[in-house]
Amino acid sequence: MVARPSVEPDLRGPRQRLVDVLRERGITDLAVLRAFELTPRHVFVPTGIRHRAYEDSALPIGNGQTISQPSIHARYLQLLKLAGRERVLEIGTGSGYQTVLLSHLVDQVFSVERVAPLMDAARQAIQRLEVRNVSLLTGDGTVGWREYAPYDAILVSAASPDVPVPLLEQLADQGRLLVPVGGRDGQRLVLLTRRGDAYDREELDAVRFVPLLGRHGWTP
Ligand code: SAH
Repeated sequence: MVARPSVEPDLRGPRQRLVDVLRERGITDLAVLRAFELTPRHVFVPTGIRHRAYEDSALPIGNGQTISQPSIHARYLQLLKLAGRERVLEIGTGSGYQTVLLSHLVDQVFSVERVAPLMDAARQAIQRLEVRNVSLLTGDGTVGWREYAPYDAILVSAASPDVPVPLLEQLADQGRLLVPVGGRDGQRLVLLTRRGDAYDREELDAVRFVPLLGRHGWTP
């Protein structure tokens, strides 16, 4: 008999309480709430802080990076208004948690991370959960992932001084791009929607993300 990979303890109770918190914080998209129910966040945080996995807070994941606050992920995912058939590009895989949330919300997920040890850990967690509609690439996500473009949605999980031009080019018509834009100490979440060769631009929440390092971001 082949043993199935274990994700015990399952922690369904704490996860359900997190979903209740997200609801209280204004998340109404049922598919998004369902994705949080299905995704075990404790698999994506270091063992020493696993007991904090279902708090609505950002946590360190090593290499100076953090797994974002769940309500931030939820807000992002709700803003993208996903219908289920999209191809989505994520820049900044980090722990892989949001990658798996996305895998429950769309048809195909493509995700790029520049820090190899983080990508290795994310890949392991994703494989352990037997998620199959995710493709991963280690490299500079500011140039996008041209091979599989165009994307119906692009999410950038790190802060950029400007919107990286290759990501604009790799967005499908009517596609939506979410990216924190601004200085290193604070940014504005920007939502761009492509209309042919033009882009509608909305400036949303004040946010604070780790820097996007690369050719079309901050200099590493
Ligand atoms: N959504 C992730 C957030 C991780 S933090 C999570 O919840 O776990 C942002 C990530 O962006 C970090 O892992 C960082 O290494 C990565 N990053 C920064 N610049 C990048 C670039 N140019 N290309 C790809 N990833 C990048």
